[in-house]
Amino acid sequence: MMDSNSHRQTDARLKAEVIVTCCALGQHGLTHGTSGNVSVRRDAETFFISPTAVPYEQLDDIPLMDFQGRWYGARRPSSEWRFHRDILKARPDINAIVHTHSKYAVALACTGSGIPAFHYMVAVAGGADIRCAPYATFGTQALSDNAVAALVDRKACLLANHGLIATGHDLASALRLAGEVENLAAQYSAALSVGEPEILSTDEMIKVVGLFRSYGKQDSDHDPDLRFGGPSGP
Ligand SMILES: [Zn+2]
Repeated sequence: MMDSNSHRQTDARLKAEVIVTCCALGQHGLTHGTSGNVSVRRDAETFFISPTAVPYEQLDDIPLMDFQGRWYGARRPSSEWRFHRDILKARPDINAIVHTHSKYAVALACTGSGIPAFHYMVAVAGGADIRCAPYATFGTQALSDNAVAALVDRKACLLANHGLIATGHDLASALRLAGEVENLAAQYSAALSVGEPEILSTDEMIKVVGLFRSYGKQDSDHDPDLRFGGPSGP
């Protein structure tokens, strides 16, 4: 168990991460104005979420919410709090959520299309495609339900006529995934404009998902032809 002092330190760190991530959305060209919002899990029942209608550079206090819909602090939470809560509640594997209205993800989502396996990097979202959740009015339970369903076995989805949701084990990984999905949406839009993209098979995508999982684990049989020769050359 953490004592109250380490609780306070963790809270301060998580609030600071929310502010840094919101500011990064603008810096990375992932949002326009304050239309993006982010959240991070604090414990089994509570999370910090960016407040509604505060310019990112003026963010000071970050509201805390619980799974019952109660909020604490000086600022009201984002109007999209429902899908942040419902995703964190439904998915113990997820600790952080980034939602944006980035240009190419929105363009694609306005056609109702998700991102099929036109490129192997689609597997970064955890499967053979990135789904597009059907449209529902912003802030509603219907939108939240559609988002949770589109995220089954996935870490990201598009929202029809709206934007994208990317998740992660922390805010930095959720932000990175939001950037990847926006990039894939741009590439898929470009591919559609020059012809009909070839779609990779589900078997190939399952293989790539497996390779991504073993990435970074220093798995020696991941590539048996590649061997470490020592810190300096021969
Ligand atoms: Zn939105």
